Amino acid sequence: QQSFFALIQSRYPVDRGRVVIETGDGRTISYAELDAATARYARVLRAAGAEPGDRVAFHVEKSPQALFLYLASLRAGLVALPMNPAYQAGEVGYMLGNAEPAIFVTDPARIPELQPVAVQTGVKTVLTLDAAGQGSLPARAEAEPADFEPVPRGSDDLAAMLYTSGTTGRPKGAPLSHGNLASNAQVLVEAWGFGDQDVLLHALPIFHAHGLFVACHCTLLAGAAMLWLPRFDVQRVMELLPRATVMMGVPTFYTRLLDQPDFGPAQAAHVRLFVSGSAPLLAETHRAFERRTGQRILERYGMSEILMHTSNPLHGERRPGSVGRPLPGSQVRIVDEADRECKPGEVGAVLVKGPNVFKGYWRAPEKNEEEFTADGWFRTGDLGLMSEDGYLTLVGRAKDLVITGGLNVYPSEVEAVIDELPGVVESAVVGLPHPDLGEAVTAVIKPKPGAAPDEAAVIAACKAQLAGFKVPKRVLFTDELPRNAMGKVQKNLLRQAHAGLYA
Ligand code: ATP
Ligand code: MG
Repeated sequence: QQSFFALIQSRYPVDRGRVVIETGDGRTISYAELDAATARYARVLRAAGAEPGDRVAFHVEKSPQALFLYLASLRAGLVALPMNPAYQAGEVGYMLGNAEPAIFVTDPARIPELQPVAVQTGVKTVLTLDAAGQGSLPARAEAEPADFEPVPRGSDDLAAMLYTSGTTGRPKGAPLSHGNLASNAQVLVEAWGFGDQDVLLHALPIFHAHGLFVACHCTLLAGAAMLWLPRFDVQRVMELLPRATVMMGVPTFYTRLLDQPDFGPAQAAHVRLFVSGSAPLLAETHRAFERRTGQRILERYGMSEILMHTSNPLHGERRPGSVGRPLPGSQVRIVDEADRECKPGEVGAVLVKGPNVFKGYWRAPEKNEEEFTADGWFRTGDLGLMSEDGYLTLVGRAKDLVITGGLNVYPSEVEAVIDELPGVVESAVVGLPHPDLGEAVTAVIKPKPGAAPDEAAVIAACKAQLAGFKVPKRVLFTDELPRNAMGKVQKNLLRQAHAGLYA
């Protein structure tokens, strides 16, 4: 019976004067300062009327103070609910109405628009915090004493709630317990060899599991440090990498680095570990990164609902295109439509179980009935296959599977063929409504600058390598594939935009 915050405190370095955060403009924050700030913030949250178990929603830009707010919520026994600050009033209103937080923290500039939304949904107190770390929350905190005993919590008590990224539909509330956070953080520190000499380059957003839980928890439990950037700025990242030992990124971080002709071993040599996740890392990006830097990116797989679940190994083979093996304590099954076990190499639905897996969506009993099997496996909604030696390869999401003339087409298989063609940067394959076929396989391609791949040639190249039913009926071209904040391709937007193509 321990709060996750108490675990973090127990891992502070002996010398609390050590730096935990260095911001891009050279300011440093020590472990002692982090501890004092989170105590003060915890006092403000409690004084503002939040009781243990209440949600604290924050819709703020990334800053060290936003991290203090997250940690203070844990310390005070509250449930931290980070939100993407890009969300507009309608989206914020939906989440506040669903989660019913006691406290809502937003940017002072957004008060006129969002205060009424918050009040309408029953929020008790609205506080402010801006990108520079100023606002009513830090102002009140200054007046508070710098001590606060962490509120005791059991491992099943809720610690945080994330809304999923909304890649396939409306974001869903995924509550996570102190036990989920603590077990996953400890497993990752061990699996990825984190120690107090590590310096993690932090350029991810902190409203998502990747930047908030994976990156910050590994750092804190190891007593390590972070170089903290407000966002991914490729020039700043290149400048700071020579001082970092670890970088965590979404695949677009890696493709943007590779787009820089002067990126190479000079920046990467000091880094002991590059991690990728949140969206598929193309095997080609993995190989190109190794050719350029001599380093093999470690790809792992997780979700808001389950934190991190599989990973390529720190020592051993990091297989391009695979998300690795289940982490210690976590299990994976691949099953067919009747929930029967698939053989190695057969594609099926990915089911998961483990101490990292949440207990169910927030206030959604019917959905939870569907998304968990009777014996407690969670249906991830991802499709994948397991190799003989236990490596998981994802082939896409069940919702993106194309069913054409009654036959299943996995978009990733077609994308892999198209991505290898000359003149193609990347592609997305979707199923669009078709009068005869139900759905028609359709490819959307981002061409290389100056290249003009042609529809008939792409179709001919696919015919040479794929069974006829998998070959795109039409090929469209675009300057950019639509992506969300985590670099995920939004296939739902492509399907909407081209819904009438075969009408
Ligand atoms: P929503 O559930 O609202 O549609 P989402 O699933 O994108 O959104 P997240 O919880 O942020 O929301 O993302 C989890 C998903 O991200 C996984 O189910 C998987 O599809 C994808 N993902 C994560 N890591 C990887 C990876 N390494 N390779 C491929 N896909 C990944
Ligand atoms: Mg999801």
